[in-house]
Amino acid sequence: MRALFKDAPRPGLQLKEVEPPTPGPGEILVRVEAASICGTDLHIYNWDNWAASRMRPPLVIGHEFSGVVEAVGPGVTHPRVGDHVSLESHVVCHNCAACRTGNYHVCLNTQILGVDRDGGFAEYVVVPAENAWVNPPDLPFEVAAILEPFGNAVHTVYAGSGVSGRSVLITGCGPIGLMAVAIARASGAGPIIATDVNPYRLAFAERLGADRVVNVLEEDPVRVVKDLTGGNGVEVLLEFSGNEKAIHQGLQALMAGGEARILGIPSDPIAFDLAGELVMRGITAYGIAGRRLWQTWMQGTALVYSERVDLKPLLTHTYPIARFEEAFARLQQGQAVKVVLYPRE
Ligand code: NAD
Ligand code: ZN
Ligand code: ZN
Repeated sequence: MRALFKDAPRPGLQLKEVEPPTPGPGEILVRVEAASICGTDLHIYNWDNWAASRMRPPLVIGHEFSGVVEAVGPGVTHPRVGDHVSLESHVVCHNCAACRTGNYHVCLNTQILGVDRDGGFAEYVVVPAENAWVNPPDLPFEVAAILEPFGNAVHTVYAGSGVSGRSVLITGCGPIGLMAVAIARASGAGPIIATDVNPYRLAFAERLGADRVVNVLEEDPVRVVKDLTGGNGVEVLLEFSGNEKAIHQGLQALMAGGEARILGIPSDPIAFDLAGELVMRGITAYGIAGRRLWQTWMQGTALVYSERVDLKPLLTHTYPIARFEEAFARLQQGQAVKVVLYPRE
């Protein structure tokens, strides 16, 4: 089978021909039909400091994918051969303090598909059976592939007191921020204000239901938020940029007593005026990691299966895996939202 490898600790990726894996006890073999590229895959491609400190090549990468169960290992009763599945990318231990208190999403021993063990940019992949989420057979494989990052957005939007009937600022309109715009719209939030520096992505935010988009290179987002909220600020900040300036602006644009839910990951540690920005303003801050297992998958698929959220407009580009260089370059340039690879084409 063909598989896209990080074969050595250096920039780039290699498409190789290897033997398909065999599922062991508790595992399944998935025939991958669609796999999308995440920002994390760009870090791995570029082999930046994060990738170099985290990964041990050789490894098949890719952690957003969908396919069909081709075979099951000993003892597996669910899912069944032929089921159409999406995959939760976090393989959890079930034994640590976080897992034992129901917080599997912050398992202390998490292994991530395509980062710590072989992932889905391949014709076939073996994963733990429990990581499979079975979809209706008519759900397009491309949509099923992006349910993993969609879950990040769902987790952020639904954390704390949610967004229903609340004013919301969404900082960063990458794929996950854009998904959050659509979820906030479907959930009755308003006004929804979305920021980015990239006009291509701001146009998507507008199409998906943002009431106001702000290019922060052209306008001060704090002023726009204050103007639209009677000088009060928004009740909820949803942070998806990982950008230090955007995080400070987001906190400034938040009403005293509001909720900050932060998914974006800055590349370096950032400094806070803890008292001035959070403590004395009574802000509740939520760090959002991954997806709650399996609550987020239930919430997210309820939105997608019922078509209250349509993810298809976010699928901007598709490529056979042999053209992976073009696909990665397209995303790197920011002129794309979700880029899908077909491992079997
Ligand atoms: P992305 O990099 O595609 O999106 C980030 C967006 O922020 C880009 O569109 C960029 O133009 C925009 N941006 C940059 N500077 C900005 C500024 N000053 N103001 C507003 N927007 C600005 O990433 P993504 O895949 O959508 O992921 C969003 C973030 O979430 C990333 O930081 C990613 O690392 C992080 N992430 C976290 C988790 C988690 O479990 N916590 C999981 C996945 C991704
Ligand atoms: Zn990812
Ligand atoms: Zn654990």
